Amino acid sequence: MATMESLIGLVNRIQRACTILGDHGGEGGSLWEALPSVAVVGGQSSGKSSVLESIVGRDFLPRGSGIVTRRPLVLQLHKTESGSEYAEFLHAPRRKYSDFAAVRKEIADETDRITGKSKQISNVPIHLSIYSPHGVGSLILVDKAFLHGLTCVREGSPGVAPVRLLQCLSHHGIRAKKLKHVEEKGSVVNLTLVDLPGLTKVAVDGQPESIVRDIEDMVRSYVQKPNCIILAISPANQDIATSDAIKLAREVDPTGERTFGVLTKLDLMDKGTNALDVLEGRSYRLQHPWVGIVNRSQADINKNVDMIDARRKEQEYFAASPDYGHLVHKMGSEYLAKLLSKHLESVIRQRIPSIIALINKTIDELEAELDRLGRPIGADGGAQLYTILEMCRAFDRIFKEHLDGGRPGGDRIYGVFDNQLPAALKKLPFDRHLSLQNVRKVISEADGYQPHLIAPEQGYRRLIDSSLGYFKGPGEASVDAVHFVLKELVRKSISETEELKRFPTLQSDIAAAANEALERFRDEGRKTVLRLVEMESTYLTVEFFRKLSLEPEKGQAPGSTPNSQAPDRYGDNHLRRIGSNVNAYVAMVCDTLRNTIPKAIVHCQVREAKRSLLNQFYAHVGSREKKQLSAMLDEDPSLMEKRNAIAKRLELYKSARDEIDSVAWK
Ligand code: GDP
Ligand code: MG
Repeated sequence: MATMESLIGLVNRIQRACTILGDHGGEGGSLWEALPSVAVVGGQSSGKSSVLESIVGRDFLPRGSGIVTRRPLVLQLHKTESGSEYAEFLHAPRRKYSDFAAVRKEIADETDRITGKSKQISNVPIHLSIYSPHGVGSLILVDKAFLHGLTCVREGSPGVAPVRLLQCLSHHGIRAKKLKHVEEKGSVVNLTLVDLPGLTKVAVDGQPESIVRDIEDMVRSYVQKPNCIILAISPANQDIATSDAIKLAREVDPTGERTFGVLTKLDLMDKGTNALDVLEGRSYRLQHPWVGIVNRSQADINKNVDMIDARRKEQEYFAASPDYGHLVHKMGSEYLAKLLSKHLESVIRQRIPSIIALINKTIDELEAELDRLGRPIGADGGAQLYTILEMCRAFDRIFKEHLDGGRPGGDRIYGVFDNQLPAALKKLPFDRHLSLQNVRKVISEADGYQPHLIAPEQGYRRLIDSSLGYFKGPGEASVDAVHFVLKELVRKSISETEELKRFPTLQSDIAAAANEALERFRDEGRKTVLRLVEMESTYLTVEFFRKLSLEPEKGQAPGSTPNSQAPDRYGDNHLRRIGSNVNAYVAMVCDTLRNTIPKAIVHCQVREAKRSLLNQFYAHVGSREKKQLSAMLDEDPSLMEKRNAIAKRLELYKSARDEIDSVAWK
């Protein structure tokens, strides 16, 4: 069984959480909304503000005849650990009121500020909090055994205390020396009470015609909430059948399970009449018993009769009354407060499952949000290094997926090999380079003063050599093209690595490291491709020329023998043939390079990128100090703030849940 102490602790915690979280209700799914509030409803001057005051046990509400309460007053009672008692308004957060007469004045002034001095109403609530280390008012929820013990002490029953008291307390695990402390502290449920303008029948001077409806709608908006406990205030000097309070309460709470009927002004009834029919439930039956009240009269108010005296007088009134004497233990403000406390206890108990559900839902949402934002990183160097490496791996995985086809982009490398390289090779100016004119020029230059005898060996070599040089361009261009594809994939992979999103510094560190590696691979690729071209120049394929020499020279007259007519060494046909031989050879090399350049590029750039893109970075990170590591894990400050806020909320909700769990399952 949960003790009341822990139940109170629970509600305190939930409400503190609400306050810290800025949850003042109003929105669906609000934690605050799940907790009960108490609102007073009734006709104008029926004694609503007076009842509320006596429940709270402080004089702070403006009371009087006519329309005094013209804005809803949302009152929160808080128990503080120590310090003096004070009140605070939401509209003036830094001002602490320790004088309750000043509170009353501020309520009146603040009402006027919005409504003007006229008799207009406004549904803009005034929020007032009362903080008290003693616990405010009569709404004290105390473990019953506790209460029993305390009653023994208070009454100082000589026969009972100290032995029975000690037994009683130790039975409940309480040490006697704590007793005084407990008595001083009391236990107050932080509770919301709402004072509302009175329901009226007609608009009086200066009020718009709609005021009757407006007030009713405003009051209804508060009391229709299922967690609102309704104190339906009816004055005893009016027929209960005309009670606006009961009318509205019945409308919003037909079963009456959250309505408490309160009959005020019993002292003002005509002589010879009494309210027993109402109080004993014969006139109008409610689920909860009716409670009769005698508040301070206007004359008492004018005389500044204080709360304690008023309570005493009320008690005396009932005790002395011939009509209500038999009901003396079930009448009066103090009894009403107790009744309300008991009811609150059971309501809170009923609410526990839904509060747990609400908290769990919020916790799930916050956890999901935190996952989305990323969890906070451990403060030690090991955890940071681990996190960095994890993120590098995540990035690397995505980068590889791009290359291997799991994600798009890798195909663009093949595009370079399949389109760009062949197109560039095709565009090489061999036509011009191996034109008759140029062949003649190169051949004769190579021959020098002595024209060649059989075949222009030197000339061939020079023509081939200079032609092969052209392949360097497309080779290097392919290296660059693939380099840019890889660079783009690095950029893409970084932006696609969810884990990295929150770490802009690490993002740019990884990008820089990856790009640096890609530059190295590009250099390697370029060297290899150029070497392939150079290799073609340094050793020619002899077989090609051997086969050539067996073929008849083109353009020769059919039937003529090759030997009988030695070709004119600088004749067009001869030179053309040389040109076309070289062209054929170059075409053969071109075919080879078209295949080997991609191999070289993949070997040096793509394969290396897959294999060792971040190797240097890993080595570098591994040797870093903790301070440098945390610098790498620098985050966007707004994100950090957001995460901290969520983590804090989560913490609160979790501690609220722990608390509830411990109450619910004890
Ligand atoms: P509200 O308009 O419903 O908030 O009513 P108030 O609490 O402001 O009270 C209106 C007037 O009725 C004040 O002058 C109170 O002193 C007076 N009053 C309220 N309750 C009682 C009561 O039980 N007995 C007497 N004699 N006067 C009361
Ligand atoms: Mg009032």
